[in-house]
Amino acid sequence: MTRVFLASRNAKKLQEMERILGEHVPGAVVVGLDDVAPYDEPVEDQPTFAGNALLKARAGFEVTGLPSIADDSGLCVDALNGMPGVLSARWSGPPKSDERNNELLLAQLADVPDERRTAHFACAVAVVHAGGELVVEGRMDGRVIRETRGTGGFGYDVLFEADDRPGLTTAELDRAEKDAISHRGRALRELAPRLAALLAPGD
Ligand code: IMP
Repeated sequence: MTRVFLASRNAKKLQEMERILGEHVPGAVVVGLDDVAPYDEPVEDQPTFAGNALLKARAGFEVTGLPSIADDSGLCVDALNGMPGVLSARWSGPPKSDERNNELLLAQLADVPDERRTAHFACAVAVVHAGGELVVEGRMDGRVIRETRGTGGFGYDVLFEADDRPGLTTAELDRAEKDAISHRGRALRELAPRLAALLAPGD
C-alpha cells in the first residue's frame, strides 16, 4: 500500500487527491492532518504560493516521514499589483470571511474600468519526499466582475469569470466544469503522474 500525507484537514481535498492519485497509483491512500498526531504547523509567511506550499510540505515530511503534499492558492488581481495573492484567505483581516473579502475587493476595484479588471487564480502544490522536492503550479485567467453571482464554489468564485467560460462566474460552474479549467485542477493533473513516478517501487 502506498501512503502519502496531505497537509490539510479539508475532507474534500483529501478525497480529491486520493481519487486523482489513485488513477496513477492504484490503492494509494492519502492521510490528512487529522489522521496524524498534532504538530506545530508552520506559519504561512512566504511571499509566494510555492514558498508556502513547500513550507507546509516540508513540515509534514519531517513529522510523518511519508511523502508529503501541501498546496497554497489565491487570487492575483492585476490592478492591485497581484494582490490579494498569498493574503487571499485573510484579505479583510480576522476572522476569515469570504463575504468580507469579496466586499473589500469590490470596493478596492470600484473605480477600475472593465478592461483593467483582469486577474488570475494561482495554485502551487509541493511534494517533499526522501528523494527531494517538487513544486507544480497551475493558473486560471479571467476577470473580476462588479457584483457577486452564483452559489457554488467558495472564496472569490462569486466575483470571477474565467476566460475559458466567459459570462459565468466560477461559482456558477458545476464542480467538474470548474476542475477542468481551474488552477488547482491543472496543478493536480500535472502533479499526479509525476508523483506516481516518484512513488514507484525501485525509485
Ligand atoms: P487555500 O490555498 O485553500 O488556503 O486558499 C486560499 C484562499 O484563496 C481561499 O481562502 C480563497 O479566498 C482563495 N481561493 C483559492 N482558490 C480559490 C478558488 O478556486 N475559488 C475562489 N477562491 C479561491
